[in-house]
Amino acid sequence: MTIQTAFTHIVTSLEPIQGQREAANIAHIVMEYVTGMSKMDRIVYKERELTTEQTSQLTAAVKALLAHEPVQYVIGSSWFYGMELLVNPHVLIPRPETEELVEWIVQDIRTAQLSQPQILDIGTGSGAIPLAIKKELPQAHVQAVDVSKGALQTAKDNAVKQQLDVTFELVDILNKTAWTHLPMFDIIVSNPPYICQRESADMQEQVVSYEPSLALFVPDDDALLFYREIGWMGKEKLKNGGALYFEINEAFGTETAALLEGMGYLEVEIKKDLFGKDRMVKGVWK
Ligand code: SAM
Ligand code: GLN
Repeated sequence: MTIQTAFTHIVTSLEPIQGQREAANIAHIVMEYVTGMSKMDRIVYKERELTTEQTSQLTAAVKALLAHEPVQYVIGSSWFYGMELLVNPHVLIPRPETEELVEWIVQDIRTAQLSQPQILDIGTGSGAIPLAIKKELPQAHVQAVDVSKGALQTAKDNAVKQQLDVTFELVDILNKTAWTHLPMFDIIVSNPPYICQRESADMQEQVVSYEPSLALFVPDDDALLFYREIGWMGKEKLKNGGALYFEINEAFGTETAALLEGMGYLEVEIKKDLFGKDRMVKGVWK
């Protein structure tokens, strides 16, 4: 099989389930992964034959993709904030909306001219949030926690790969005794699980069947559980003037904001994502 026929093979295989445009996007990603060649080189060398090893890699990839496995898990990486991060089924594939949350925090820190902010990310998954913050603000002290050992290992591997100094720790944030030892922070950020089981019927198969349930679904269908618990934690662990930043379920913007206001947070603000949906909430602790 040549590079050109391999590309066409991926597109025709995936077209029925992904549509032409997405099938072509995925085919480019898979071809880069299999050949290690840039798009330009793949055009120049389109008649070059794949090796036996490359052909079997491609066959395995197409099989996984036809079973709706996300292409990021198939190739083992995903882009976030200009970094190529390792991903696997222990971690959520970082989303573009979450880049907007990082952007908000980075802007606020720059505006406030905080020189060495102490930052905590709760439920870090691949480490996307703390690594992006540390990359933008090298002088920040960044810590991150997760309850999943597999996620923490992936996050640590990503920190090594990106050569960024972030501290990772296994902590169940729903268990107070597990976090009392943590220091005080200027900023606590979290993109916690926020989907209720009943919403799973409306979700894409590639998300529900492959991404970790621990990352997606909130226990007991209690949509605000993590916001309430982290809100309480913030009251003890945020410095005066410190802030809490959350990614939220688009259906609960008003409720999450009201919850934080009820707990005494000030300057509570909801922000929409690029798709126009309520996606982030901030509250200041004074
Ligand atoms: N921060 C990553 C991102 O934005 O791509 C991952 C977010 S994912 C929606 C939620 C994360 O919270 C998962 O990595 C999951 O393992 C973690 N998590 C779930 N329950 C937790 C708990 N009780 N304590 C700490 N982390 C938890
Ligand atoms: N935004 C993700 C999705 O729609 C879920 C992230 C989360 O639960 N925090 O699949």
